[in-house]
Amino acid sequence: MTILINPASGEPVDEIPDSSPADVARAVQRGREAFRQWRDTTPAERARLLLRLADLVEEHAEELTELEVAETGKPAAVFRDGELPFAVDNLRYFAGAARSLDGTGAGVLSSGYTSALIRRPIGVVGSIAPWNFPFIMGVWKVGPALAAGNAVVIKPAPNTPRSTLRLAELLAEAGGPEHLLQVVTGGAEIGQALVTDPGVDMVGVTGSTATGRAVMRGAVDGLKRVHLELGGKAPALVFEDADLEAMAFGVTMGATYNTGQDCTAATRVYIARSRYAEALEALAATMERVRPGDPWSAETDIGPLISRAHRERVHGFVTRASGRVVLGGKPIEAPGFFYPPTLIADAEQGSEIVQGEVFGPVLVALPFDGEEEAVRLANDTPYGLASSIWSADVARALRVAHQLDVGVTWINDHLPIASEAPHGGVKGSGFGKDMSQEAVHEYSVVRHLMIKHAAPEPKDSFRPA
Ligand code: NAD
Repeated sequence: MTILINPASGEPVDEIPDSSPADVARAVQRGREAFRQWRDTTPAERARLLLRLADLVEEHAEELTELEVAETGKPAAVFRDGELPFAVDNLRYFAGAARSLDGTGAGVLSSGYTSALIRRPIGVVGSIAPWNFPFIMGVWKVGPALAAGNAVVIKPAPNTPRSTLRLAELLAEAGGPEHLLQVVTGGAEIGQALVTDPGVDMVGVTGSTATGRAVMRGAVDGLKRVHLELGGKAPALVFEDADLEAMAFGVTMGATYNTGQDCTAATRVYIARSRYAEALEALAATMERVRPGDPWSAETDIGPLISRAHRERVHGFVTRASGRVVLGGKPIEAPGFFYPPTLIADAEQGSEIVQGEVFGPVLVALPFDGEEEAVRLANDTPYGLASSIWSADVARALRVAHQLDVGVTWINDHLPIASEAPHGGVKGSGFGKDMSQEAVHEYSVVRHLMIKHAAPEPKDSFRPA
C-alpha cells in the first residue's frame, strides 16, 4: 500500500494498493490478448478510439485536475488550462498520426518484384512514468503506442498514480479491446518486473539517467526495444545583444515552471561577461516576482516540490553549491514542501550544482567570453536534452544552435512544445522521442513484403537473378 501525500499540505490524500510481481505477469498476459485484437485494427479505428479518449479527457477535466493537483501540488490553473488541454491536443495529434504512418509504400525496387513497406506494431509495451507531469507523461507513452497498434502496461510513479489509473478507465469507456491499457502500481521493483517480463516486447521509461540505465540493463536479456527519456540540465546562453527583459522573463519561466521539476528546465544561464551584472540583476528581479503558494489560489505561480525528501535533496544541492546565493536558497517555512526560486551566481563549472540535475527552481549563472566558450560550457555536462539561445543576431543564434549537443534549442524563448515536434535528448538524457510522428515510429517496426510479379522462367540455374 502506498499512502499518497499532498505536497502542498504534507497531509495524506489517499492510499493505493501496490501491484505484486504476479499482478504484473497477469497484466502482461492480458495485454498480449488485447494486442492480438488491436494490432489488426485499421488506422481509422485506432484514430476513432484516441479521439473518443481525447473527448472523455476533456469532459473529465475538473476531476483529473483535482487528482493531479492533490498529488503534485501544481497550480490547478496551470494543469486545467495548460497541461490538460495540451494532453488532449497530443491525443488528437496521435489519432491523426495513426492514419498517416509513413513507411507504408510500394514500388518495384528489384526487377520483377513488387515491394511493400509496412509499419507494424511491436507488441506489448511496458511503460514507466515519472511524477513531475503524471498525466501528460502517461499520454506521451500511451498515445503513440496505441496509435501504432500496440497494447500498453504502464507503471506510473508510486506517489502520483491516480490520473493514470483514471486515464485507463477513460480508455476502457472509449472502447477498444479489454485490457488494451493496464496500469500496475509500485516502485522500482514493480518497474523491473515489467521490464524483464518475457511477454513485454518493448520498454520505455521517462525518469532519471540512473533509472534509464537500470531499465536498459533489465531489457538486455530479452533484447527488447528501449525508449529512454531521461534527465536534463538545460543551458540558456545569453549573448551581449540579447533583449535582457525578454530573457529574464523567459529564463525565469524556464527555471521555475513546475517548480523547476522539468527535464527541460533552464538550469544554467551563461551570460556574456559584458552584460553579466545587468543580466543577473534582471533575473533576480524577475525570479523574485514568482509566487509560490496554494495550488488552488489564482495568485499562485508555482506549487511545492513533490516531497519532503525531494526538498531536502534540492536544498542539499544549494547548501553545497559553489558561488553565492543571490536569491532564495532556504526552504519556505509553511505547511507543505515549498522552496523559493533560487539564483546562484559565479558557481564553478565543474561543481555539482552546475553538473547535477537538481530538479527544483534553482538557476545557476556564470559569465562567458566569446561564442566558442559559450558552446563549450553549454555542452559540458553529462546531459543533452534542451537549451536556449538569447540573441538578436539570427546568424549567430543558428550557428551556435548547430553546435549544441541537445534534442531541442529554443531561440529567444525557453520551454514551448508542440504535439508535432519530437521531444527527447542525446547523451545522458537518453534516446527516444515523445510526441510527433517520430514517437509513433518508435513504437512500430518496418517490414518489407516482396512479391514476385515476373512471369515464370525456366529453372536452369540456382544463381540469384
Ligand atoms: P525516477 O527515475 O526516480 O523514476 C521514474 C520512474 O521509474 C518511476 O515510475 C519509478 O518508480 C521507476 N523506476 C525507478 N527505478 C527503477 C528501476 N530500477 N527499474 C524500473 N523502474 C524504475 O524519476 P522521477 O524522480 O520519478 O522523475 C524525475 C526524473 O525524470 C528526472 O531525472 C527528469 O529529468 C526525468 N524526466 C525526463 C523527461 C524527458 O522527457 N526526458 C521528462 C520528465 C522527467
